[in-house]
Amino acid sequence: MFFDIHIIGGGLAGSEAAWQLAEAGLRVRLSEMRGGGDTTPAHETDRLAEMVCSNSLRSDDAEHNAVGLLHQEMRSLGSLIMRAGDEHRVPAGSALAVDRMGFAAEVTRAIEQHPNIKLVRERVDSLPDHPTIIATGPLTGSRLAESIANETGEGALAFFDAIAPIVHRDSIDMDVAWMAARWDKGGKDYINCPLDKAQYEDFVAAFVDGEKMPFHDWEKDTPYFEGCMPIEVMAERGPETLRHGPMKGVGLDDPRTGRWPYAVVQLRQDNALGTLWNMVGFQTKLKHGEQVRIFRTIPGLENAEFARLGGIHRNSFINSPRLLDNQLRLKSKPNIRFAGQITGCEGYVESAAVGMLAARFAAAELRGEALPAPPVETSVGALLSHITGGADAETFQPMNVNFGLMPPLPGRFKRADRKKAYTERAREAFAHWLEPVSELERA
Ligand SMILES: Cc1cc2nc3c(=O)[nH]c(=O)nc-3n(C[C@H](O)[C@H](O)[C@H](O)COP(=O)(O)OP(=O)(O)OC[C@H]3O[C@@H](n4cnc5c(N)ncnc54)[C@H](O)[C@@H]3O)c2cc1C
Repeated sequence: MFFDIHIIGGGLAGSEAAWQLAEAGLRVRLSEMRGGGDTTPAHETDRLAEMVCSNSLRSDDAEHNAVGLLHQEMRSLGSLIMRAGDEHRVPAGSALAVDRMGFAAEVTRAIEQHPNIKLVRERVDSLPDHPTIIATGPLTGSRLAESIANETGEGALAFFDAIAPIVHRDSIDMDVAWMAARWDKGGKDYINCPLDKAQYEDFVAAFVDGEKMPFHDWEKDTPYFEGCMPIEVMAERGPETLRHGPMKGVGLDDPRTGRWPYAVVQLRQDNALGTLWNMVGFQTKLKHGEQVRIFRTIPGLENAEFARLGGIHRNSFINSPRLLDNQLRLKSKPNIRFAGQITGCEGYVESAAVGMLAARFAAAELRGEALPAPPVETSVGALLSHITGGADAETFQPMNVNFGLMPPLPGRFKRADRKKAYTERAREAFAHWLEPVSELERA
């Protein structure tokens, strides 16, 4: 079959992208290496859209949760992943969990039977010259990864993430923490949380004893660069190591005491909106529950709300804020779009959502039209805006969708009311965006 566009990778993102393009009347070649003699270390079947770990598409609460809101937006755009998820739902409270086999079989069937899609079980090793969407995920085949690295330049493709926790700015107690830079150099760009000797010693002990996530066998060769070593590995080197490393208090006058604190935790702005702040140097394999418990012992972070917790995994992702435009095109090779986890979004739902957007942008372009990016007030728009420019390219690490990616709301709200206000604003913005988009598609 002659095709209009090539999609590489039949996971969550590639399947959604193929479906959206095919439904828009475009002919798609979908290359998936599983079933053609190759596999990844995490997949177990040849089915498309295989969920490699949990069977949950997370919260389905569109009123109070950014992922639930993303579900709703995706459903309005005819998402195959959401349709299959809804059809294969299993009981899980307010979460959308699915029968993973039934879910993947449904997606595979829909793709195989679509007259506009040719599914080819083949591995692709280089970047094509025709219109293409790369959706090869966190475990991209090594030759293709090499080809991406060659095109994008040194260091622009990461093979492991090293995620430091990210905190919502409005949950930090600024009566305790203060803004300053070490030795007052430059602007007062860091939020500093001070610890005294006893607090520091308890914190280090808790870290050393805390329960860690094991590495998978195929992750055991994770390279630890000094700059992104897990904080617990540093803590295990000796009780003073952190105090002379990421937690050093020198050059930081605490305005409440006029002295340098015994130790400090610093947070740096993580997005252009200034709503999210990352804990500098705190990448960790500690279990998520342990992270919340231990980080909330830090003065100033007692009520911290985390947009994302720390982690270290094998994960191929590009430096999207630097490399992609807001239509998910590679700036240096605009016939290539990226979608899914390889763009630095994180999670099944986010990956499928970015697949959906890449496809819709590509469909519009192939029809000679321009599709405006969804507004940043929506879930899908906030995610897109973050990965294609809102995030700091220097510290870019994979990110789940969350309200902190949206512009802050003016005024003060109770916590539950604030979430509702975010989703109400998002629905309005989404409807405004969707109306001309639907008209364009009907024309
Ligand atoms: C071990 C592990 C556990 C995870 N657990 C969760 C979880 O519990 N919840 C969650 O939300 N997210 C989880 N994730 C993240 C998850 O992988 C992504 O959220 C999601 O699957 C990404 O979708 P994707 O389409 O980008 O990639 P994938 O779903 O991985 O799809 C990529 C596809 O591309 C194919 N491919 C790769 N290279 C080539 C090539 N060169 N040629 C042709 N085909 C190729 C692969 O075979 C694969 O089918 C996990 C990831 C890993 C690695």
